[in-house]
Amino acid sequence: MIRTILTYPNPELKKKSSPVTIITEATRELARDMVETMYNAPGIGLAAPQIGVHQRIIVIDVSGRDEQPDLIIAINPVIIHSEGETYEEEGCLSVPKYAANVRRHTHVVVKGLDLEGNEQTWRADELLAIAFQHEIDHLDGILFVDHLSPLKRDLFQRKYKRMTESASEAP
Ligand SMILES: [Zn+2]
Repeated sequence: MIRTILTYPNPELKKKSSPVTIITEATRELARDMVETMYNAPGIGLAAPQIGVHQRIIVIDVSGRDEQPDLIIAINPVIIHSEGETYEEEGCLSVPKYAANVRRHTHVVVKGLDLEGNEQTWRADELLAIAFQHEIDHLDGILFVDHLSPLKRDLFQRKYKRMTESASEAP
């Protein structure tokens, strides 16, 4: 089932998510909904709090339109190693129509569980590494715009407020 994606400045996006203690059929159904919602958007990643569920679950697929799907479902993901620095443009399904450059690590190693409860280790570079950092941030109530400098964040807030106000005035 496709769920509604919450958008900035919805306060639900600022809440910290709790670890999944037991993987049940409900967890698998939630993950399926997240995958469906991500592909439908379309997006390359989605975290459970973006659909208002405060559990530490993320889904990612950074494969291109003409490539084989490469779906990752990570439960309780934790970055155990990171290195390198990059400054790429990012967007977010919860901050539509806005993009900005964000400082991230180029390489991360992430540990977590899959849907069967098995421990998994993901070694990610470049876009996939950025996606992991972006989605794990969501689990801690952090949006990519929170990484902007105070000046840029202030500009974003004013611009975004104007943008969403004029959108709601439109017929
Ligand atoms: Zn996001």
